Amino acid sequence: MSQSIAVIKGDGIGPEIMDATLRVLEALECGLEYEFVDAGLVALENHGTLIPQASLDAIEKYGVALKGPLTTPIGKGFSSINVQLRRHFDLYANVRPAISFPGTRSRFEDIDMITVRENTEGAYLSDGQEMIDDGNTGISVIKVTRKGSERIVRYAFELAKSSGRKKVTAVHKANIIKTSSGLFLDVAREIAREYPEIEFQEMIVDNACMQLVMNPHQFDVVVTTNLFGDILSDLCAGLVGGLGLAPGANIGEKAAIFEAVHGSAPDIAGKKLANPCALLLAAAQMLDHLGMADKGDAIRRGIRAVLETRRDMVTPDMGGTGTTDTFAQALVEYV
Ligand code: NAD
Repeated sequence: MSQSIAVIKGDGIGPEIMDATLRVLEALECGLEYEFVDAGLVALENHGTLIPQASLDAIEKYGVALKGPLTTPIGKGFSSINVQLRRHFDLYANVRPAISFPGTRSRFEDIDMITVRENTEGAYLSDGQEMIDDGNTGISVIKVTRKGSERIVRYAFELAKSSGRKKVTAVHKANIIKTSSGLFLDVAREIAREYPEIEFQEMIVDNACMQLVMNPHQFDVVVTTNLFGDILSDLCAGLVGGLGLAPGANIGEKAAIFEAVHGSAPDIAGKKLANPCALLLAAAQMLDHLGMADKGDAIRRGIRAVLETRRDMVTPDMGGTGTTDTFAQALVEYV
């Protein structure tokens, strides 16, 4: 039986990079069927809401969505669509690989690590819960629960186990933020005992930043709370050449949404200059998730080969002279 997924093309460069990605998935004969649904500006124009119920229903029905970047309109009354989706489906694990590819601007080669960020609590609470603000004082709340910490740390260890990784580093600030970060660290230590075959390391977040910049190869899987994960995963994207190659998965018990880390890039939308790799790498994560890791690997190998050998086909942000379409074409020929 073929697997169906929800597809949100997204705003700005979204449709261009999604079309490129779907071309590659077709070439790989993944046997996927797509239900195309709207979200973002397109949905606001067509349905009067940023996330129509039909789109939520499709994601719930199939349990898997591939999503292009969405533009959150600036102004009061619009909260981030991505945050809304994470909350709605309780997508507690934000999984962001940082892998070196040839021909990218980076001081390092051979980085291969994954940040697992808690995606639902920490310093990112719902509107209204977030702060006390009388114009003179702003107080934000950090919420860490035993349940939330257990499931994210266990997710990180299970990911390490299933992908043959050797080490999990829990990043925290328990020395200063004792109540919340302290609880996260205590739980991480407890869960680590269940996985004696995987090395466990704990690191204070400021030291982790320095270590990542000085010697990123020491890291394998990093697990941390929401705010630290948000910051560290962008730092890691920077280590491997920036947003053009940074994918992310948002994973929960009942649904998973795969996306590029970058936004809708309105400055280059419609110009065929958008690099499709981040969304393609997100699609590769999706294939891993769907039990088609061999096809996920084929995408990663293909990107590596095309970046190495077909500079004429890759997009200008990667130093090439090609377009979104030629990049996709080169990948189709390779895979
Ligand atoms: P952005 O990531 O869209 O763009 C930042 C810069 O990177 C721009 O110069 C852009 O041209 C370039 N860029 C981004 N992706 C690229 C690609 N694939 N190929 C080549 N160049 C690329 O960030 P922004 O400009 O701050 O945000 C634009 C919009 O995107 C905003 O409305 C924001 O809310 C939204 N956004 C959405 C998501 C998401 O849906 N996951 C994430 C971030 C931002």
